[in-house]
Amino acid sequence: MNAAQLTAWLTRFAELVHAQRDELTALDSAIGDADHGSNMDRGMTEVVAALAEAPPDDAAALLKRTGTTLVSKVGGASGPLYGTLFLRMAGAIGDGFAPALRAGFEGVLARGKAEPGDKTMVDALGPACDVLDAGGSLAEAAQAAADGRDATVPLVARKGRASYLGERSAGHQDPGATSTALLLQAAAETLGGVQGQGEEATP
Ligand code: ADP
Ligand code: MG
Repeated sequence: MNAAQLTAWLTRFAELVHAQRDELTALDSAIGDADHGSNMDRGMTEVVAALAEAPPDDAAALLKRTGTTLVSKVGGASGPLYGTLFLRMAGAIGDGFAPALRAGFEGVLARGKAEPGDKTMVDALGPACDVLDAGGSLAEAAQAAADGRDATVPLVARKGRASYLGERSAGHQDPGATSTALLLQAAAETLGGVQGQGEEATP
């Protein structure tokens, strides 16, 4: 997995977030404070600009820049959580995409203290990591993330702002799980053919 491939992934994620900004914000207006779409769109726009301004020459540096940009530019829960995801990925990308995503997921768990079923981005990210660790494709991981996103609808939120609503959070799809499903969709679209190849295997 090289810097150019990861740039394609993050650029596509930024496009998907921008296109679905209003949907993400509408989901957050139901169980939060109506800023998830604008938070993620602002953050990923900054990431794409930062990568274009001074393109990092290796994958770890690129992921680190992505993480620090999100932490510094996005407030709320999602900035530090997505920032941590990419910063932890940076430390493990040398082992491949699947181990890196797992490391990022563990960072999100450590930082946010959410568990599966708490109605957060964890519910989309965890199933995707499980699929990849079992040798599944990125397309299958993206499907698992989408299924996890859909499965947040009936859940009662136990972390983040939505938890303030208690039982009234049930019946709504979690915004963070929705953006995480886009992250995996972007990976399937841009990295689907290169998963598992080391740096040396790519031109
Ligand atoms: P904020 O809640 O601060 O307004 P956002 O609206 O950008 O931030 O992001 C909300 C999303 O963040 C939620 O939908 C949820 O998926 C995720 N989230 C919130 N708290 C946590 C947590 N402790 N662990 C994991 N994800 C969380
Ligand atoms: Mg919010």
